Amino acid sequence: MEDDARPEAARLTVLSGPSGVGKDSVIELIRARSPWVWLSVSATTRKMRDYEVDGVHYFFVDRPEFERMIATGQFLEWAEFAGNLYGTPRGPVEDKLRSGEPVLLKIDLQGARQVRAAMPDAQLVFLAPPSVEELKRRLIGRGTDDEETIRRRLVHADEELAAEREFDVTVVNDYVERAADELVSLLGSSFLAPARPGSQS
Ligand code: 5GP
Repeated sequence: MEDDARPEAARLTVLSGPSGVGKDSVIELIRARSPWVWLSVSATTRKMRDYEVDGVHYFFVDRPEFERMIATGQFLEWAEFAGNLYGTPRGPVEDKLRSGEPVLLKIDLQGARQVRAAMPDAQLVFLAPPSVEELKRRLIGRGTDDEETIRRRLVHADEELAAEREFDVTVVNDYVERAADELVSLLGSSFLAPARPGSQS
């Protein structure tokens, strides 16, 4: 069901957390149920997966093009993750915030730290797994990557789990619907967003 409880004021919210925690599932649900939430589309040099659409999930670019974008200051933040480059195009994010729309970025920890430094008012949300064991099971079972990539993801996940304390809020991804609702309710929280019709506080 579409949710029309749009907060009144806009801010930048960053969703981060270990690889495999389910950020993509939470984001897909928000895309479907809360289309007023503007999701930044990152650029990446990673190969496109079967289910992905260029310009929707990512802008798929080659390394020279990505490097040109770095050199011309087009990224709000960028990072190398598991051998690929990922970055948030700066212009669209700034335009949306100026026009008063809440902005949601789904990025890795290095990117979250860069956003914190560049925009101290940004809200950093850590998506946590129900348990570490569950996260490791999900990472190994994903089936989209080779062994070396999985090994690198496990190492990276340990580092990212340890970073939880740097974040403003933790949302536990126990049930994806619940986690998505909690994230959407956080998007305008520092501006005292009006209560949703029928909600209790
Ligand atoms: P995947 O390849 O699985 O789509 O993403 C790998 C990691 O890169 C995830 O943790 C994802 O959140 C992160 N990521 C995606 N886009 C960006 C971005 O623009 N900047 C940064 N720093 N990380 C990103």
